[in-house]
Formats: sequence, C-alpha cells, structure tokens
Amino acid sequence: MQSRTRKTGSLKASQFKESVIREMSRLAAQHKAVNLAQGLPDFPAPLELKEAAIKAILDDINQYAITWGDKPFREAIVEKTKRYLGLTVDPEKNITVTCGATEAMVASMLALVDPDEEVIVFEPFYENYGPDAILSGAVPRFVKLNPPNWEFDEEELKSAFNEKTRAIIVNTPHNPTGKVFRKDELELIAGLCQKWGVLCFTDEIYEHILYDDAKHIAMATIPGMEDLTVTINSLSKTYSITGWRVGWAIAHEDLTLPIRKVHDFLTVGAPAPLQRSGATAVNLPEKFYTDLHEEYKIRRKVMLDILDEVGIKYYKPDGAYYVFCDVSNFGFKDDIAITKHLVKEVGVAVVPGSSFFRKSEEPGKYIRFCFSRQMETLTEARERLKKLKPFTA
Ligand code: PLP
Repeated sequence: MQSRTRKTGSLKASQFKESVIREMSRLAAQHKAVNLAQGLPDFPAPLELKEAAIKAILDDINQYAITWGDKPFREAIVEKTKRYLGLTVDPEKNITVTCGATEAMVASMLALVDPDEEVIVFEPFYENYGPDAILSGAVPRFVKLNPPNWEFDEEELKSAFNEKTRAIIVNTPHNPTGKVFRKDELELIAGLCQKWGVLCFTDEIYEHILYDDAKHIAMATIPGMEDLTVTINSLSKTYSITGWRVGWAIAHEDLTLPIRKVHDFLTVGAPAPLQRSGATAVNLPEKFYTDLHEEYKIRRKVMLDILDEVGIKYYKPDGAYYVFCDVSNFGFKDDIAITKHLVKEVGVAVVPGSSFFRKSEEPGKYIRFCFSRQMETLTEARERLKKLKPFTA
C-alpha cells in the first residue's frame, strides 16, 4: 500500500520506538522459543475469576460502565485498600478505574503534567515511563539505581529536584530489578516531594509478589504523602489476568478530577464485565495471597537454580517476578547480541536490559528473565539454556 500523505508519524510518535518487551514475545513465537520475556503468566487464571467474568457477561453487564469505574468494583477496591494498605479512600472522589496500570500512568501524566515540566524517573525503569513522559510533553530526569542493591545516591536524587519538577515516578516492587523500596528510601523521596511540592506517581502493580522478609510500603502511607501521591495498581499481575486490562489510580479528589477527564476521552472506560468480576478478584480471601506467595517463592527458586547451573550472574529479586542478570561474562558484544543468540540459537526469549535504560554509549550487559511461568516452561528453559556457555578466554 502506498502512503498518500506527506508525513507518517507525529513528532511525538517518532520520539520513541516500538516496545522491545512486546517485540520479544513476537520473536519468541517466530523462533518457537520458550518465552521468558514478557511479564505475563502462562498458567491458568484463577477459576473463580473466570466464572465471575462469564457470569457478569451473562448478567448483561455489557454496556459502558460509569467512565471512572463500575461502582461495586470501586467499592471493592476501597475495602482492599483499607485492608492491605490501611488507607481510607472514597470511591466517589478518589478512584479512577482504567485500562490497566498502563492507562492509569499515561492518563495521570497527561492530566497532571504540563509540557516542559520535569518528571524524575529512576533508571533502570519500566520501559513505558519514557513514552509516557514524551506523550505528555514532560522532560524525564533520570536518577540512577546502582547495583548490586539498586540503591540511589541521596545527593543525586536531591539535585534532580528543582523548580520545574512536577512529579517523580516510583515503582515498587520494581521492574526489572526486583527492588522493594525501603521505608527510609521512601521517606527521603517523600521529604523532597513535600519540600518542592512535587507529585509522586507510584506504580505498585507487584505489591503482592514479595520474597523472604520484604514488605511492601505504599508511598501514600508515608506521612504527608496521601494528597501528593497517585497510587497506580492493576488486576494484571496479582490475579494473573494481564489480558483483562483493568487497573486503577487512587488520588486526592483535586487530582482525580483531571485524571478522570483524560481517562474518559482516552478510553471511556475499562471493560465493564471485567470490572464487575474484578470485584471478585480484589475480594479474594487471605489464603489466595498466601498461596500466591508460596507459588512465587518456588518459581523464583527454580529460576535462580537454573541461572546458577548455567553460570549467569544475577541480582536476587525481593519482589516482582523478574530476575535481572549481568551477562558480561558470556563474551557477546552487548545485551542485544546475547538476546538474539538466546532466542534464535538457544530457543529462550528474554528482554535485553538496555530497554530499561536511556540510550547509552556503553554496551549493555544486562538481560531480564521473567519467571511467572508453569514448571514445565521453566524446565524446558533449563534444558535449552544448557547450550549457553560462559566465555572462558
Ligand atoms: N507497570 C509495571 C511496572 C509493569 O511491569 C507492567 C507490566 O509488565 C505494567 C505496569 C503494565 O500493567 P497493566 O497490565 O496493568 O497495564
């Protein structure tokens, strides 16, 4: 087909590339590789959630929900937020239900950040935050998280705040590193937000996927932060239903109003029957979360054992379902070269670490494995990865 217009993409669209993570899933299918790239479970979703979704459709919850969210679902979110985080929120004033955390983040940025205002982003970062900033016209300002514990330098963070700073993005538990922000770290960020009148967008989508003694602390629970925080969450990861596309943003009423307006004109609403059945998800009993915890503990152990066997150096995650690895000892030119080799020759798809960083002069040395997979998938990956040998010069 021939293009009939003089130009193709807009200036904004030309500033970012296709998602590397989603591209890796397509490459995995093409090369019949075991897909340890994209962050989605390959095991069945909980039966009661599937039944609730079918019931909602049969009950004819099939038309647009209220644009900021189905009432029973918002009420269920309120209950869960009180139960798990100890936060009291009003379903009429503080919640916007969106198409996943993805829409919650971009709608919040579009609604609350003006062009040329700065948004602080910790690097490495979940790859959506870059395009989110570009789409809202914001200027991303990066602060490094440093290995091995992915801590930030206090002075570097302090000097990133200035008159132009509108917001900071905190993702805890963190993708790709598995870092869970400690209370003292959150308090430091909170102090700076309050000093400069800066908003905090927190992506807490992995709040229930924690290991060992790690505890999830929501930024909105840090004194002084309730009104400055937009807490973003979703059904995707906790309930293993990434395809439902249901998430939400919790914020002060004055912030919620513009978020709701932007959300309305972006998508009108998230799928109505899946919001209604989402209430069943967030109302699941405590046992669901203890089982989730046990299952992920086993999956993480299996994944780390595989990496030990193959000789891949990794940073043990405290949360989320990824393991970030340093593959500089394998003798490849960079992370892209080893990722290509893995998908084409070894038959395992992973994500090159450079997709979580700004463009850099230095060759990338990280790759990310996702282990939200059935045991058979991990066992198959183990067999295939035996072909990969550390470089011994
Ligand atoms: N935020 C983080 C940190 C993620 O890792 C992901 C998915 O991998 C998302 C958001 C996407 O969430 P959702 O499916 O709710 O749009």
